[in-house]
Amino acid sequence: MRVTDIVKKRMLFSFEVFTPKTPAGEEKMFREGGVLDKLTELQPDFISCTYGAGGQRAGNNLEVLKHIALGGRTIPVAHYTCIGNTREGIKAELETYLENGVDHILALRGDMPYGMKDTGGDFHYATELVKYIRTTFGDQFTISVAGSPEGHIASRSLEADIAFLKAKQDNGADYVTTQLCYDMEQFERWFDAIRKAGVTLPVVVGVMPVLDIGATINMALSRNGCALPRELARIISRHWIFPNVYAPNEDEAEIRRKKDAFTEEGMAYTLRQIDKYRALGVNGIHLYALNKYEAVTRLVKESGLIYP
Ligand code: FAD
Repeated sequence: MRVTDIVKKRMLFSFEVFTPKTPAGEEKMFREGGVLDKLTELQPDFISCTYGAGGQRAGNNLEVLKHIALGGRTIPVAHYTCIGNTREGIKAELETYLENGVDHILALRGDMPYGMKDTGGDFHYATELVKYIRTTFGDQFTISVAGSPEGHIASRSLEADIAFLKAKQDNGADYVTTQLCYDMEQFERWFDAIRKAGVTLPVVVGVMPVLDIGATINMALSRNGCALPRELARIISRHWIFPNVYAPNEDEAEIRRKKDAFTEEGMAYTLRQIDKYRALGVNGIHLYALNKYEAVTRLVKESGLIYP
């Protein structure tokens, strides 16, 4: 079964995990009853795994994806980037994915490692990577591409970014997976705008669960330039840890109470996002699971993404 077949029939839901960075993380990910087991039990339509662009962990998502493929219970989706990759290297790595039962790919430009101004590879944009994969591998891969509801941080305008999304469609992409966007009104404007621009691809919305103040601010502002809408900003302010979320000096019990209260309100915010996106008629909800299955299990059940 391919993602493109599923979305013809119904809305899907999926998870994103990242490659474990330590032996303890690997144990947590792969053991019986670990992250992959627990997430798979929820019967997602696919699980995607990130690709560390540059640096030591580049391209090491194969172990996670192989594990998912061998389990045979859901579709493994490989994130893949242009960073540091040549045509020949890409061909060889993609052949390895296919040999290991991985035939879905999220084709990305990739986040530039700190200090890099170029991809350092043969391709500079995701449009080129999509074209290369489609031309080299025909229909062997189902190809997803990134969409940025607020416009990519480096784009000169939202309109330019949407034009490049259309180019990814023209080059052979099959569906869009979006960047996190806490601002539901902006998402709706973008969703209308891409349809007007002729982007007909199915859209699977990336939803970052709001669980922790520091992580929420970090995800929005460290790389992506995402807006924090007033409702979310108020939740953050109500549970602010003084004087600084990163170096708190309140007493332990008070900090715990605030963190728990923030998580509760954050979960409720995330559920409202899922409701809103489903009502807009998106093709899927992609939960950034962050290798934490307790919170996403609750979200999946309470949102009704899986039926009891
Ligand atoms: P592109 O579509 O190439 O766009 C990059 C910028 O260039 C944009 O500003 C765009 O407007 C502009 N542009 C695009 N095409 C052209 C063109 N032909 N000419 C001029 N300008 C152009 N990063 C990782 O490193 N690893 C991951 O695993 C990872 N997973 C992700 C998962 C999801 C669901 C999403 C949405 C993003 C993920 N990213 C990941 C982040 C992504 O790599 C970054 O956002 C990156 O900076 C841009 O990637 P892109 O594919 O959107 O790039």
